[in-house]
Amino acid sequence: MKKVICPPCGTEIRGETDDELVRKVQEHAKREHGRDLTREHILAVAEAA
Ligand SMILES: [Zn+2]
Repeated sequence: MKKVICPPCGTEIRGETDDELVRKVQEHAKREHGRDLTREHILAVAEAA
């Protein structure tokens, strides 16, 4: 399990796998903030959860 805390809004997003985490974070960033994040960026800021 890994997690990412979204910097603009503080929402905690968790994923069981890298693929799930990346997909959920990308969906959140696009929907809530209109931003496109790369897989590399997301995994670079992910923490163990
Ligand atoms: Zn957010």
